[in-house]
Amino acid sequence: MRAGQDRDADRVSVLLDCRLDDLLGRLVEARVIGSSPAWPNPGSAQSGYLVEGPGKLLLDCGPGVLGSLRQNGTAPDAIAITHFHLDHWGDLVPWAWLNAYGPEEHRLRAEVWLPPSGIDDLTTFASLWGNDRMFDEAFALHEYLPDTPFEAAGFELTAHRLPHYTLQAYGFRVQQDDKVLAYSGDCAPTEELAQLARGADLFVCEATLAHGDKDGVPRGHLSADEALAAADGPILLTHRPAELPSPDGVPLAHDGLVVDI
Ligand SMILES: [Zn+2]
Ligand SMILES: [Zn+2]
Repeated sequence: MRAGQDRDADRVSVLLDCRLDDLLGRLVEARVIGSSPAWPNPGSAQSGYLVEGPGKLLLDCGPGVLGSLRQNGTAPDAIAITHFHLDHWGDLVPWAWLNAYGPEEHRLRAEVWLPPSGIDDLTTFASLWGNDRMFDEAFALHEYLPDTPFEAAGFELTAHRLPHYTLQAYGFRVQQDDKVLAYSGDCAPTEELAQLARGADLFVCEATLAHGDKDGVPRGHLSADEALAAADGPILLTHRPAELPSPDGVPLAHDGLVVDI
């Protein structure tokens, strides 16, 4: 009788553990580390979005992001960069210095996923500062391919090419089980953006402009209305100058904001 009770208890325990694992496996959280556009909003870091689930994945790494991560004691497993405008990757530079010269216990090793030819681009930048291999030595560097899923920090990512002036730029879809986060990076209005956002549980989308007619030619950024037009579900506007108003009732990112997905 006693043994039978124990077996039943074990079975219940296993079932509960399975349920818990199932639930925990589905939890995904997005934390805004930096929400600023190409120039920083007062007191704010530039582009950086930490997606936490099976691991810690940082989307973009603009100036100010590394300091915020260190303040919070957060160590990303992987970093994925949308494009090579400084406000999306600039803190890889001091991050490389940290990993080269900082105290061993404070170094933050991470995979870095770059656009195609990104490793050569980093080598070119590094050659200006005296050590061609500074990024190679600081990170495990990889390049993603357009429309080809890859795994980083336990998530499945897919990079989709998006128009952004004349630059090579991408948006990401980040998936964990049935949860999807879409991230625009920087982007002009395009049907591809709506495809990137389709069905996402959260669409983090830039809204840099007051009006689309304030943009350059070719276009490279979105107004809030253009961002909303690309969404078919929950949206979080970001990369927006503090001086601009935002549409009523539409969530706007700020540094430190946490969203459960
Ligand atoms: Zn930007
Ligand atoms: Zn940009």
